[in-house]
Amino acid sequence: MSEPLSLATLKYQLEKLQVRPSKKRGQNFIYVQTTIDKIASLAEVNSIDHVLEIGPGLGALSRSLAERARLLTLVEIDSRLAAYLESVFENYQPPVSIINQDFLELKQIPASINKCVSNLPYNLAVPIILTLYERFAQIEESCFLVQREQAERLCAVPNTKLYGIPTLKLQYFASVKIVSQISRNVFYPRPHVDSTLIRVTRNSTSVLKKLPPYDQFAHLVDQSFKHRRKKIVNNLKPYYPEIETFLAEMGLSSDIRAENLTFSQFIELTSLVASI
Ligand code: SAM
Repeated sequence: MSEPLSLATLKYQLEKLQVRPSKKRGQNFIYVQTTIDKIASLAEVNSIDHVLEIGPGLGALSRSLAERARLLTLVEIDSRLAAYLESVFENYQPPVSIINQDFLELKQIPASINKCVSNLPYNLAVPIILTLYERFAQIEESCFLVQREQAERLCAVPNTKLYGIPTLKLQYFASVKIVSQISRNVFYPRPHVDSTLIRVTRNSTSVLKKLPPYDQFAHLVDQSFKHRRKKIVNNLKPYYPEIETFLAEMGLSSDIRAENLTFSQFIELTSLVASI
């Protein structure tokens, strides 16, 4: 683990572990050391942080994070990679613990974890980010490497094609910023698209306290976007027969579609439907 990673060492380690990178598990490993260090540095990890890394793979980013953090916890679904990480980080300082589990199934994480830094499996990036922020209130700031389109989806503004359920659900908990673009050429196997590093920062408790319950908000958002091209009235009428009155109360036309509503308008609409 002491020598910097290269494509040759990465391929050698994968072969030794008999891991053929799986598309389903989003196994695209970073092998360029300068990129790894850049991510760890942009994530602003420091010696007070207990960092969570989801999908550590062969531990390329983990090593850089461990150099900066107070503690590091890794969650890896692939048991061959988890076993390899156990041997790599045995007796490591600072201590690194490895949880061999599907992150989406995890109901608890150590209470002292305050930050997450991860190169996420691309097909699961959005569910993982949402689960992390919905389930674990202790996570304040995070940095994630995701496919460029997913980053754009999470940062999208109303009236655009990418604006939708993930944008709004994450906004309930946190704000998102694009930090850096990362070329597809630093991964093995090389994906078809470039990646983006995003920073997610949890909203303050005073902001959260003013919001209606998340379950009601999430249900309204899910149903509003059920048929994206339909008017919001038609999507919501089966659940909220008085939807047109609520929209009128908000000064909105009954012709609007879900993608026309801002986050604040979804919040206001949730409060109105919840009041009946
Ligand atoms: N962090 C490594 C790197 O940057 O080279 C690997 C990143 S790779 C994009 C994603 C990793 O997530 C893989 O190691 C994969 O096995 C793991 N993974 C996929 N689904 C997972 C899940 N549901 N929970 C935990 N780990 C998962």
